[in-house]
Amino acid sequence: MTRFPSAIVLRNANVLDESGGFSGPFDVYVVDGGIAAVGPNVSAGDAVSLDASDLWLLPGIFDCHDHISMSTLSIAESLATPLSRWALETAQNARLTLEAGVTFVRDMAGADAGMRDSIARGYVTGPTMQVSTVLISQTGGHGDGFLAGPGFELSPAYLMPNYPGKPRFVVDGVEELRKAVREVIRSGADWIKLATTGGLVSDHDNPLVADFTLEEVQTAVAEATRKGKPVASHAYGGPGLDNAVAAGVRSIEHGGFLTEEQAQRMAKAGCWLVPTLSAMRDTLRWAQQGVLTPVQCRKILDFGLELGGAVRVAKEYGVPLAIGTDYITREQHGSNLEELALMQEAGLSVEEVLLAATKGGAELCGVADRYGRIAPGYVFDAVLLAGEPGKLRRLLEPGAVAAVFKAGQPAVLDPRLEDAL
Ligand SMILES: [Zn+2]
Repeated sequence: MTRFPSAIVLRNANVLDESGGFSGPFDVYVVDGGIAAVGPNVSAGDAVSLDASDLWLLPGIFDCHDHISMSTLSIAESLATPLSRWALETAQNARLTLEAGVTFVRDMAGADAGMRDSIARGYVTGPTMQVSTVLISQTGGHGDGFLAGPGFELSPAYLMPNYPGKPRFVVDGVEELRKAVREVIRSGADWIKLATTGGLVSDHDNPLVADFTLEEVQTAVAEATRKGKPVASHAYGGPGLDNAVAAGVRSIEHGGFLTEEQAQRMAKAGCWLVPTLSAMRDTLRWAQQGVLTPVQCRKILDFGLELGGAVRVAKEYGVPLAIGTDYITREQHGSNLEELALMQEAGLSVEEVLLAATKGGAELCGVADRYGRIAPGYVFDAVLLAGEPGKLRRLLEPGAVAAVFKAGQPAVLDPRLEDAL
């Protein structure tokens, strides 16, 4: 492809509107990566014109819970991987994610500020990122992958390797938590991520038992808030989820055992839910196949998680929803749009899914003034679909995504559109 023009106009596209439906056909005029005008018969000077008739245009997808630096479940492989290969495979994962149509990722542990900034500087291709760097966890909590043999303190399965300058992530008590939050912010993180319950893919904890006391969680949230950083909490359910909501976190991650009463309180507090159905579904499969540790497999199968139940409860009570895949293997990266299909299959309408995946993600990430809409003044992060999005599972079929733009530059471009250049 020759250098892509800085001014283009997409002619006659069906454009996602505020209701989650499609309006048009409209022209979308893009100059220097930003949207200059949207409407019928837009005059666009000598901008290059692309025929988008019979194509459906939506803002770029937000994956609000991803782990682009994670590639394998094998602790042996992770321990044998040099940091350089880890970082470079992360770059590949980032590219695959963007090419899938995800233009914005909230990385919920693993990726560091350097990875985020390398993409922003254009060293490597990938989505715009916000990062939490690490998952702050109590001793024996979801983020503590302690290896009893050598006595190593690691992230679970060494999914997130240690490196110089990595903030501490296994801490206990209010003073250590305060210090940990400060270290994470010093590392350049955009978010603080806490594990306030146990999880599934970890050995020492239980998803319905609280990790950290309420006082510890409140201390972390207060310290983050003082520095203007939002907090996301890994929480499946039970009292640890209650603690997170009471302490004022901005989002609950997973929430697989969310009750009606908890959903009511989240809606009242304006607390978001990121249900991560892809991960839950894959985790269940891994447990059935026995590819996780025996403790993890037994735990996952015993809990009998009902996939999508939390989404239905959240919808009923008006909890704001964003989408997140929670991908942790190289086989998963790039299939991110499947989360949209799973959200639809869990009971959301197509309109609700498309808004959660775009405008919703932008609101959760605090960037809704520049991202998440096809409107003048917004960054042209966008996905062009070859067909009308009805059954969202079709988005995974080859050719379903005709183009992906990030800040006006194509990451994917169907030959049909390329011909105009
Ligand atoms: Zn996660």
